[in-house]
Amino acid sequence: MIRPVLTAILAIGLLACSAPSAEGGPDADEEDVKSLVPDLPTERSVAGNFETVLAEYRQMNDRLDRVSAPLRSANASLCAETFRDPGFRTHTLEDYPEQMRGAAQALMGVEPNAIYVRSVRRDSPAEKADIQTGDRILRLGGQGIPGGRTMTQFYDALSRGAFDGAESKITLRTPAGHDYETSLQPQTACDYQTTVFYSQDINGYTDGREVYVTSELMRNVPDDVNLALIVAHEMAHAIAGHLNEAPTRDLELEADRMALVLMDRAGYDIETAIAYWADAAHPHRSLQDDSDSHPTIIERYENFRQEQARIRELKRADQVLEFN
Ligand SMILES: [Zn+2]
Repeated sequence: MIRPVLTAILAIGLLACSAPSAEGGPDADEEDVKSLVPDLPTERSVAGNFETVLAEYRQMNDRLDRVSAPLRSANASLCAETFRDPGFRTHTLEDYPEQMRGAAQALMGVEPNAIYVRSVRRDSPAEKADIQTGDRILRLGGQGIPGGRTMTQFYDALSRGAFDGAESKITLRTPAGHDYETSLQPQTACDYQTTVFYSQDINGYTDGREVYVTSELMRNVPDDVNLALIVAHEMAHAIAGHLNEAPTRDLELEADRMALVLMDRAGYDIETAIAYWADAAHPHRSLQDDSDSHPTIIERYENFRQEQARIRELKRADQVLEFN
């Protein structure tokens, strides 16, 4: 599911390589690549290079995954769709645009026809099992993963079965060529993956299955608590089924209230998140104050405060925290 976004980010690296001073590919390729990127950060892409962009992309995705994980696991009972989360994410060479595969092999050791661990989340089942970024996945639940065009679908199907039980056996190969078997205990979590999408817009959005946060928003969110609020807000839209409705002020305010419930259940300090909305330097301010479908910053802040008071009352009365 990360494929289109990864393609977009790698396409930026490709454009950097196609700058006038570098060796350029055919124009047709550049156009194809551009069409994949809705809002291309041109200044950044020309100044940067593939390695820098890729390193930033991985770092941003790791942060987003780490911040989202407690929201997904603590709120599993509120989500219609759950999955068994092993705590690592994977990639294959075929996930990258053809022009970039040489670089992907050189930089990340991703060889053709194999599936690799792309990232391991801190404090996750995978980390406890000592699985490392860059390890190749050889077997899952005793079954080998064949190479070829159906490899990813096969892995997806296999992982659904393998991670369903209390304990999953997995065989991996380190970059040095050492094979090892380990077992991990996946956690039940809301099935909303989170992914960084490269864009100069400051925005978060969801298609109801996956939550996307733009790279520019990632750079502008000052702390993990406020990043958690953005993810929780998008999860709330998905949980409440808002996607079938036109965006309105009321739906936005409802998603904000639900987000605080999701955050509190996940152990986030909602006071820190709300206090930030009273701050004049908020990056959303200029964007949202002149939008028709979005409430103003002040409306959102007051809505947050009211919901915070309700949450406080419920907790004081030792009641289960549910949506308003
Ligand atoms: Zn919203």
